[in-house]
Amino acid sequence: MTVSWLDLPADTLFGLHNLPYGVFTTAVEGDRRRIGVAVGDQVLDAAAAARATGLDARLADLLAGPSLNPLLAAGRADWTLVRAALTDWLTDPGHRAAVEPCLLPRAEAVLHLPFEVADYVDFYASEHHATNLGRLFRPGTEPLTPNWKHLPIGYHGRSGSVVVSGTPVVRPNGQRKAPADAAPSIGPSRRLDIEAEVGFVVGVPSALGTPVPLADFAEHVFGVCLVNDWSARDIQAWEYVPLGPFLGKSFATSVSPWVVPLDALAHARTTPPARDVEPLPYLDDRDGADPWALDLSLEVRLNGTPVSRPPFAGMYWTAAQQLAHLTVNGAGLRTGDLFASGTVSGPDRGTEGALIELTWNGERPVELADGSVRSFLEDGDEVVITATAPGPDGSRVGFGEVTGRVLPARDPASR
Ligand code: CA
Repeated sequence: MTVSWLDLPADTLFGLHNLPYGVFTTAVEGDRRRIGVAVGDQVLDAAAAARATGLDARLADLLAGPSLNPLLAAGRADWTLVRAALTDWLTDPGHRAAVEPCLLPRAEAVLHLPFEVADYVDFYASEHHATNLGRLFRPGTEPLTPNWKHLPIGYHGRSGSVVVSGTPVVRPNGQRKAPADAAPSIGPSRRLDIEAEVGFVVGVPSALGTPVPLADFAEHVFGVCLVNDWSARDIQAWEYVPLGPFLGKSFATSVSPWVVPLDALAHARTTPPARDVEPLPYLDDRDGADPWALDLSLEVRLNGTPVSRPPFAGMYWTAAQQLAHLTVNGAGLRTGDLFASGTVSGPDRGTEGALIELTWNGERPVELADGSVRSFLEDGDEVVITATAPGPDGSRVGFGEVTGRVLPARDPASR
């Protein structure tokens, strides 16, 4: 394993094998947004280090900020060169004098949305989640819809309400109508939920009209973050037929501040689950193509109590299949596109990525450490989603966390 002149603990989640990118400000330098790279419990000011080490000007420009977008757009060859430079700076003792002053404690960095989110798409790739939600939303019918194993189901969401971890989430108002209600009413959601998901960040655009095949996934996708797709189940249940999710989802989608590059996930690659329906050729990753199943272990904490540990490795559809499907009609990718996996739910109790499944629609509330119970989120509740993945030599790759606290609803507009 490569050794840093930094004194990194062996079990750090932010070792040289990770080096995720984010955007930060500090209290001292006010609102000047800079690109940072997390290493140990510190942040490397990437542009400052590029200047101090005399990095090639073209590559240094990619790190100039104020967002990751120029780096995302640059493409895989430059992603590799920049990552190699970072590794060199942090391992070669000859760089220490120049680079060490560019490090600051991670606790002093205020983290921001790391890239300008272009389009946002959300998928539905866990067979367990889709089956559970089918049973809860459409009781008495086949839980998986007939298309589910033929295509990765998704919808286009609202990129403008994607927010960085730590941003409070105001309880949404909307139309609610329980089956027993004679008519809908407007008011705060009574069934506010989370969805623990994994997000994929697109770097290199694609031309309108040209699909992105499975094999080109890593040429376009830069890295991975965590996503909490907050969901108002009562609003969702009343509005979603026949066009799908809308206002029950679009009030907030939180993302983790660190984007873990695909290059850090080589040891997390794993075999996707067996597919029991033969995929059409553009989705077929069984022979020749390189499947992109990833062995990420998620954890969901509610007010500090771990309530679920969703396993990402078992997702039926991989991110590469999702990207191939997203573009099969010729839809063009843009730098900063974000597509999320869908709720990560495993087959077992305690591995569900949403409260509606975990509590089975409130029939079996979860108990928190303070003795209180939850079916759905209450005002003041804080949700934290974290994840790790296997790295080299028994190490782990950390994704940081995506957090959010629920604030009370505001008065709904009236005419
Ligand atoms: Ca979702």
